Amino acid sequence: MGRFDGRIALVTGASRGIGRAIALRLASEGADIAVNFRSDRDAAAETGRAIEDVGVRFTLVQGDVGRPDEAAGLVASCIADLGGIHMLINNAGVSADMLTMRLSEEDWDRVLDTDLKGAFLTTKAALRPMIRQRWGRIINIASVVAYTGNAGQSSYASAKAGLVGLTKSVAREVATRGITVNVVAPGLVDTDMTDSLTDEIRTWMLNQVPMGRPGTVDDVAGAVAFLASDDAAYMTGQTIKVDGGMVMF
Ligand code: NAP
Repeated sequence: MGRFDGRIALVTGASRGIGRAIALRLASEGADIAVNFRSDRDAAAETGRAIEDVGVRFTLVQGDVGRPDEAAGLVASCIADLGGIHMLINNAGVSADMLTMRLSEEDWDRVLDTDLKGAFLTTKAALRPMIRQRWGRIINIASVVAYTGNAGQSSYASAKAGLVGLTKSVAREVATRGITVNVVAPGLVDTDMTDSLTDEIRTWMLNQVPMGRPGTVDDVAGAVAFLASDDAAYMTGQTIKVDGGMVMF
């Protein structure tokens, strides 16, 4: 018996990194998983095979979360292929690290479209079926920079701060419908996204982490699994920071 037996989750950006770890963690506890990816079908298929290995069902759903028709299509495909949607994990994200005075409008839009508008679009599509079944979990993956800001990350921090506002607002709208909406905010986690950091910036960031190590994708997945579980039934509109103590407010 797993905590998520009979539940179905859509995880956006699940082809690699944190999204992949979340998908595998929920699957390992019994959930069927819709694995969203944008471009890398081979990587998504690998996530799918690992899900199948733990004995649950999966489906691959390709689409850009920032495009309205594609985002709604992801939720529709999850329901069509697996039979419903109980958990929506808005994990897909990109960054465009650049000082604001050099940041192009295109990069600003790309980050906001993926990291913020994408979560709005999938949430909008998932709410009706969740309200109908009077149970749902929406978990948005933000970042500690939503709370602190970060030089060179104005678009990313704005998108993630917006995601916290979206979370709290939707949480209030559906609180009586058996649906909780929460945020997991990682600090520094080793993935493709952080691969491009220079040694200097990485060392500087690690110096801000009381635990003295970067987070792992499984550290983040564990917090998501908690919020998705019945143990977190009375938590909504909240943020769990998974950051080794980096930001303590
Ligand atoms: P990653 O390794 O770069 O993976 C990003 C994932 O998002 C990939 O699966 C990618 O799919 C998908 N994706 C990107 N744009 C998409 C779009 N428009 N539509 C659908 N999927 C899209 O990133 P990560 O480090 O695992 O980050 C995952 C989440 O955690 C992000 O929201 C990120 O902001 C957040 N986060 C990360 C860190 C960190 O230190 N790594 C810290 C705080 C927060 P394709 O490969 O198919 O394009």
